Amino acid sequence: MSEHPRIRELLGAGPTLSVEFFPPKTDEGLATLQQTIEELEPLDLSYVSVTYGAAGNRETRGRTRDLVVDLNRDRRYPAMAHLTCMGHSRDELDALIADYGDHGVLDVLALAGDPPADGSPPGGDFTYAEELVELIRSHGDRFSIGVAAHPELHPRSTDRGEDRRNLARKLELADFAVTQFFFDADDYLRLVDELADLGVTKPVVPGVMPLSNPQGVHRMAKMAGAAFPDDLAEAVEGAETPEERQRIVVDAAVEMSQALLDGGAPGLHLYCMNRSGTVLEIVDALGLRS
Ligand code: FAD
Repeated sequence: MSEHPRIRELLGAGPTLSVEFFPPKTDEGLATLQQTIEELEPLDLSYVSVTYGAAGNRETRGRTRDLVVDLNRDRRYPAMAHLTCMGHSRDELDALIADYGDHGVLDVLALAGDPPADGSPPGGDFTYAEELVELIRSHGDRFSIGVAAHPELHPRSTDRGEDRRNLARKLELADFAVTQFFFDADDYLRLVDELADLGVTKPVVPGVMPLSNPQGVHRMAKMAGAAFPDDLAEAVEGAETPEERQRIVVDAAVEMSQALLDGGAPGLHLYCMNRSGTVLEIVDALGLRS
């Protein structure tokens, strides 16, 4: 059983450096991820996280559980399990949380998840992430609980004040937040200020997306409600080689990450898409390799 520190403790001693993985669907994808994990080993990561059934994908849910359990057992760092509540019964969630506890997985990112893309009702006993945070808390204080924050508002939110009050309530119950990706450090700094105005000063870890595939960035930014700046989009699309494109994306991520750290961010969470290349370049450019 692992004896890792909880992420809430690591953030207290920050700044942390972490990456997000997704559970691969194929053996080839798994081999790529294993190689990425080895390539990231010299970075002395604070923790990693593993997504859960993103975009309603139910097939990969068991793989998330297995990957998180394996990483916690085999690696120097804790692995945080993403968990969504929409579409799950309370009993299913209770069983999953208990199973994680039994296997020493004590860091969970509590999420609502998204309703099915075809518009059918999600089902399940919960609607909001806040309800999942309460359920995990009922399993004892040994769990360190993160929640999602959206600097540019949640895509389904129409009222900024209401979105921030919902987030503040959820974060009061949880230990920390990790943000959706964004491309302007001021969006993050404004979020932190707005939470402080509501009396919430728990750590909010900015999520940074160094994605060099222009179509992928546009698609994901649209889904996440994140504005992809025109000048960055034009530069990425105008790049003549993949190397030039990667340089542009890395430079933009480095500039923003430095502004975030200078602004007091408690760490950086890099959306690495199961690849090490851009993460290694960003960390080196920021001088964060220990
Ligand atoms: P909530 O906090 O429940 O908020 C959703 C919406 O409901 C917001 O508009 C909020 O303002 C509103 N709201 C909240 N509480 C109330 C209330 N009591 N009454 C009325 N309105 C309320 N998805 C996956 O499927 N798998 C993943 O692994 C995954 N990982 C993610 C990681 C990060 C860091 C982030 C930022 C998102 C991730 N997502 C993932 C996406 C997430 O599931 C979606 O953004 C989802 O639509 C909302 O999740 P949430 O936890 O923010 O929801």
